[in-house]
Amino acid sequence: MTGLIGRNVLLLILLFFLISSIKFDILLNTSFAADEVDIIIDGEEVKYDKDKFWVKDNNILMPLDFVKDNLDVEINNYESEYQIKKDDKKVFFYIGEKLYIINDEKKEKDFSPYITEDYNIIMPLNILEGLGIIIELDQAERKLKVYDEKEPERPGLITFVLDDGSKNQYEMLYPLFKEKEIPANWSPATVYLDELDDFATWEMIYNVYKNSKPRWEISSHSSSHPNLTNQSNERIRIEAEYSKRALSEFEPVSFVYPYYQYNDRVIEQVKEHYDLAYAGSINDDYNRPTGNNGANDIRNINSREYVKENPYEIKRVTLTGPHGNWNSLASHYNLERLVDKTKEKDGLLAFTLHKADENSVERLRELINYIKEVDVPVGTSYDVIDEILED
Ligand SMILES: [Zn+2]
Repeated sequence: MTGLIGRNVLLLILLFFLISSIKFDILLNTSFAADEVDIIIDGEEVKYDKDKFWVKDNNILMPLDFVKDNLDVEINNYESEYQIKKDDKKVFFYIGEKLYIINDEKKEKDFSPYITEDYNIIMPLNILEGLGIIIELDQAERKLKVYDEKEPERPGLITFVLDDGSKNQYEMLYPLFKEKEIPANWSPATVYLDELDDFATWEMIYNVYKNSKPRWEISSHSSSHPNLTNQSNERIRIEAEYSKRALSEFEPVSFVYPYYQYNDRVIEQVKEHYDLAYAGSINDDYNRPTGNNGANDIRNINSREYVKENPYEIKRVTLTGPHGNWNSLASHYNLERLVDKTKEKDGLLAFTLHKADENSVERLRELINYIKEVDVPVGTSYDVIDEILED
């Protein structure tokens, strides 16, 4: 009897030593699969297959895919050479070699990157410190914290279309956009520039194009501002093509329909020269958005899908009319609702302004302040192309 107990005790003691030696080994070599470690990037936990990440001899080993999916870096490769770039900093590593080049400096490490059977490239995460990325492994808390400080993604996009190209827009609106450091899309009817008193001069257009920061878009509002739906196909072609030619050095990518009016014949000609076109607001009497207000209707926010399917029918909400007065439906409440919903739905909201007076400039200032406060980006048609059409 006693012999049996004695043997069991001996086994238990053996088992105890075995277990503690494993633990001891982990502590000594800091070598463990990090299946219970939270990965936090710029303060936010990221979901990731944690079995594919471990720590060995002070190297945090990660598949390159993790870096590609989660960090704001550019990755290039040529045969067994891999380059990871961020701004003007770069690191190189080579599959199967202990040589690393970190910002032009050769470094030898005790670990060689390799490719697993399922084609994961395993690399030491720590080398990214050469790119200014901070990596902290808190073993006590079991947290891997990475600070990449990548630009947070801001949902939604707002664009301002300044319709007609009037001198008033240059005098009243350009200074406010400049002060607030946001761009607009200035859209003149080209034959009136330098010709009519009310309209801007070519010099003003050049000045805005050259000096606006962020760069404004100069786009086409036709040559002579007719209602294109009443014109012959040939006349529509000339209006779209000649204005494009007149503005060619500004590389216009969008067209703004005069009087918000368009139909299939108009779209067909406009498509030949422009990537997108701005229409009007939802108008319950018609099938197409050709209305001149729309601030009270959140259907005037363009969803990403709508923009992709109807790039020549982008809905616009009008803020001021041809006399500079602020639109009666463009109340604080309605505008804030449009901006909030644009952010919530990650949509495109296009505002349009004709002339402005002192009151409307103040109202616009309040709107821009609100857009900045809730942090919705303001861009031009170039951003619509980059972030929606080509996304
Ligand atoms: Zn117009």
